[in-house]
Order: sequence, then structure tokens, then C-alpha cells
Amino acid sequence: MRQSYSSIGIGAKVLNEMSGQVESEKCILCEQAHVLEENREIDFRQRTDKGEVLCRVAVQFNVCPQCGFEYWDDHAEAALDEAVRQAYEKLV
Ligand SMILES: [Zn+2]
Repeated sequence: MRQSYSSIGIGAKVLNEMSGQVESEKCILCEQAHVLEENREIDFRQRTDKGEVLCRVAVQFNVCPQCGFEYWDDHAEAALDEAVRQAYEKLV
């Protein structure tokens, strides 16, 4: 019993430390500055064999304060794909 309690305590501590030390990555373009993470909702259209689908998805942008370059990572790319897939299924 005691052991399971202590392992929960360790897990919570690790989570706290992780959220307190979010290190953003360096800009992939200029490599001069750390990017700012910005959550945005975007709307986009995707053409499919059943017609056009309109998707809205929240993605995390990385914005470089140095050169102004904006990009999203593979994670956001997957979220976009998923949004298209869900919208596509609604067309059936
Ligand atoms: Zn940059």
C-alpha cells in the first residue's frame, strides 16, 4: 500500500517539474532565437473525393521573435490530418 502511494507522489512531482521547465526549441530557420509557442484555431478547406470539407482545428504554432518565421511541428500536422479524417467521415 505504502509503495503505491509513494510512486504516485513521485509521478506528481515529475509532472510539476516538467510544467515549470518548458524549454521551447530554437527557430528552425534562423536558429538565433527560441520560438514562442502560440495556440491558434485555424479554419481550412480540404478537397476530398466526396467534396470539400471545412475543418477547424486548434494547433500550436511556433513563432520566432527574431525572424518572424511561423511553423508547426509534426504533432500539429497529425492534428490536422485527424480533423480532416473526422470531417470526411461526417460526409458519409
Ligand atoms: Zn527565426
